Amino acid sequence: MTASATVRVMPADEIVARGGGETPFLRLPERSTVFAERAMRLRQLAAGHPLADYLGFVADIALAQQRRLLAMPAMPLPDAAALDCAARAGRPPLPADGGADPAWRGVLRELLADLRQSAPAATQPALQRLAAADDAFLDRQADALLSGLSEGLDVAAAPLVGAALQVLWTHQVTALQARAAEATTGALRAAPFGRIDDKTVCPCCGSRPTASITRASVEALGQRYLHCSLCSAQWHLVRVECARCGSTSKVAYQSLDAIDAADDDTARVAQAAVQAETCEACGHYLKIVHGDRDPYGEAVADDLASLTLDLLVAESGMRRHGVNLMLLFGDAATGPPPDPLGRA
Ligand SMILES: [Zn+2]
Ligand SMILES: [Zn+2]
Repeated sequence: MTASATVRVMPADEIVARGGGETPFLRLPERSTVFAERAMRLRQLAAGHPLADYLGFVADIALAQQRRLLAMPAMPLPDAAALDCAARAGRPPLPADGGADPAWRGVLRELLADLRQSAPAATQPALQRLAAADDAFLDRQADALLSGLSEGLDVAAAPLVGAALQVLWTHQVTALQARAAEATTGALRAAPFGRIDDKTVCPCCGSRPTASITRASVEALGQRYLHCSLCSAQWHLVRVECARCGSTSKVAYQSLDAIDAADDDTARVAQAAVQAETCEACGHYLKIVHGDRDPYGEAVADDLASLTLDLLVAESGMRRHGVNLMLLFGDAATGPPPDPLGRA
C-alpha cells in the first residue's frame, strides 16, 4: 500500500486538525481570511519600505482576491473516482499542469475592474493589455505561468494573471475540502488531500512553494511548512532539509542581519525573522519565514519585502527555488531581482 492510499482513508476533518501532539501534514488555506491576512501583512511591511508603492499595490490585489474568492460560484470538482485515481498515482488531485478551468478568465476580468483605480501608473498598460485581450491570449498566459515557462509570458501582466489563478485554485482546494467535511457517508468523505509521491511540490495542486514558514501555534510550535505559490496550502517538511533536493548535510542559513551586524554578531543573525535556507548540494535556496519569531509573518508578503535578501544570496551564486507569482524571477536568479513595477 502506498503512503498516499493510507492517508486517503482518514476523514477529511481529521487531516488538518489531529490532536495528540502529532504534527498535521497539511494546513489548508482559510477561505474567509487567506488573502485579507496577506493584505494586512503587506501594509504592515510597506511602512517605510523602499518598495512601499509596490507592496501597497500587491495589498490591493490581495484584497481584491479576497472579495473574488468569497464571491466564487460553485465549480465542477473532481469526483470520488478521480480523487482515488490521483491518490493511487501519487499525484495531486487539482494539478496545476492540467490547465485552468475557463472560469479563471472571469475572475481575472473582475480583478482588473476592481484594480483599475488603484493600480500604479507603471502597471496601467499591463492592466489595459489584459482587459483588451481575447480568451486565447489569456489562456496562453495562464498556461505559461502554470507550467513555469517564460517564453511568450507577458511579465508585467503576470502578477495579475497569477492573482486570478490563485483565487481559482484556492477556491477549488477549499471547496473540495468543504465537500468532504460535509459528506456524511460514502467515498466523498475520504480526505481529498494527502501525501503525494513528490514531497517538493504542493500535495493539492503540484506547484512549487513560495517560501517555507515556521508555525507559532501551540500544536505545531517551530514546525516548518512549505507555502504553495498557487493555492496557499501548506505542507509539512522537517527542518534543515533542502526543500528542493532533500539534502540534509549541506544546508545553511543567510539573513540580512549578516550584512548589518558588526563583528559576526551571530546572536542577531540567529534571530532574523526571514532567512534564506541555502543548499550547497543543489545550489538553490528557499526563504524561511519564522512565524515563531514574528507571528504576523506571511510567506508571499514577507518574501516580497525581503528582496534585498535575494540580492545577498545571489552574490554567493545560489539560485532561487521559491516561486512568487506577484514577482517573477528569471530562470537563473543570479542577477539582481526584477523591478517590481516593470520599469526598464
Ligand atoms: Zn497548491
Ligand atoms: Zn538542495
